[in-house]
Amino acid sequence: MSVDKNSLDKSHHQDKSKGKGSTTSRSDSPDSPDRMDAVVNLCKRRGFIFPSADIYGGFRSTYDYGPLGVLMLRNVKDAWWRFMVQMREDVVGIDAAILSSPRIWEASGHLDNFTDPLVDCRQCHERSRADKIDGKCPKCGSTDLTEPRAFNLMFKTHAGPLEDEGTVAYLRPETAQGMFVNFLNVLNTSRKKPPFGIAQIGKSFRNEITPQNFVFRTREFEQMEMEYFVPPEDAAMWFEYWCKTRMEWYGSLGMSPENLRLRRHEQSELSHYSVATSDVEFLFPWGWDELEGIANRTDYDLTQHSKASGIKLEYYEPSTGIRYTPYVIEPAAGATRTMMAFLIDAYTEDEVGGEKRTVLKLHPRLAPYQVAVLPLSKHEDLVPLSREVLEMIQPICMCDLDITQSIGRRYRRQDEIGTPWCVTVDFDSLVDRSVTIRDRDTTEQVRVPIADLLTELLSRLAATR
Ligand code: ATP
Repeated sequence: MSVDKNSLDKSHHQDKSKGKGSTTSRSDSPDSPDRMDAVVNLCKRRGFIFPSADIYGGFRSTYDYGPLGVLMLRNVKDAWWRFMVQMREDVVGIDAAILSSPRIWEASGHLDNFTDPLVDCRQCHERSRADKIDGKCPKCGSTDLTEPRAFNLMFKTHAGPLEDEGTVAYLRPETAQGMFVNFLNVLNTSRKKPPFGIAQIGKSFRNEITPQNFVFRTREFEQMEMEYFVPPEDAAMWFEYWCKTRMEWYGSLGMSPENLRLRRHEQSELSHYSVATSDVEFLFPWGWDELEGIANRTDYDLTQHSKASGIKLEYYEPSTGIRYTPYVIEPAAGATRTMMAFLIDAYTEDEVGGEKRTVLKLHPRLAPYQVAVLPLSKHEDLVPLSREVLEMIQPICMCDLDITQSIGRRYRRQDEIGTPWCVTVDFDSLVDRSVTIRDRDTTEQVRVPIADLLTELLSRLAATR
């Protein structure tokens, strides 16, 4: 493989920067409202995220993930799973039911405590969360508000054909309880012992009073949670460990350090089950806000479920003869919210060769497509070889084949959706069986024999791990 200076200068590559690199100043900061509008617009225009029931005018802050969004969301979840489960020997996964027994939520305290304080504006009847509005209606500015009352966020439904009290079920508002109620099942089948964790990714549902800010707060969303069971005396140490480790995950996927911080909760902010919580926060267009909460949940959940079910949720250590209820450290992140943060962080407007472009500087593991194969033109001679190259790459990563429009336009299209590498098949390729790899960020182009292409792409992917 070599940097092919000649091919860089070929006019048919139409990438005006041609290896000169780009001026990579991010034109505005992620806390600018313009950045938010640009990202929301890009998401809809390019098929990342659509309003749900779009043809009916949308439906109550629900969203559908389009062809690119589903790839990126899956990549966020895969990256989390890889880091939290695959690369460790002390964490196993589960996938628990979304429809769940009221007994779980009674024991966990959600039926009583999973509420937000709701206030109504007496002037315009807008409903808001009292803890988010500073005593003033966000719609009309009036301070004539009702007293706050507790509003339970759980969605209630019925399992079975009868709609009576005996059939009540809830859509889970968090995935965490699935791990607690399966503690013994996992302990008895996985041969793990504390410290060990149970991880889960899946949908959760909250009847949020004020869903807002695109997919930041929605009523249906995805979570990535892990419950780490530890001896009580080690809980404080593991809490610090997970705060540090979770910050590293965001950094390892390219999130800018200046947009990321860890904020320790004040005593007054702590949930009923927590003795220490820190939030991983991102600098959103409206300011710093939560991506993930890391909590020391003590033995609260296991104790509650032991009492309610009559089944002891404990660990017995045969070597010491000691029996105890483990403490739990929980890193709880939102997959959909985190995907949005990565999009905002990656959104860049820069200039290459005097031309403006929009580029999503996504980490290659998060980008919807890792590679795009672009025949130089629609000429039919180029298509069979392009397909051959595509089929070669498809087993190792997501690969797009883009045939229409000028090559320059197609580079821009791939930049805008964050594809890190474009592989161009030109007329020389038919003779020398080589192709050009173009890098999204530097726009540098390199000529590679097709026989070496997979090795080259694999080593570029491995370098980003
Ligand atoms: P918030 O204070 O923003 O309502 P929370 O502290 O109640 O969130 P947790 O219960 O700790 O959130 O949930 C863990 C993670 O799940 C959050 O950090 C967030 O990333 C995600 N999450 C929670 N609620 C929502 C929602 N309505 N929409 C999207 N993601 C959410």
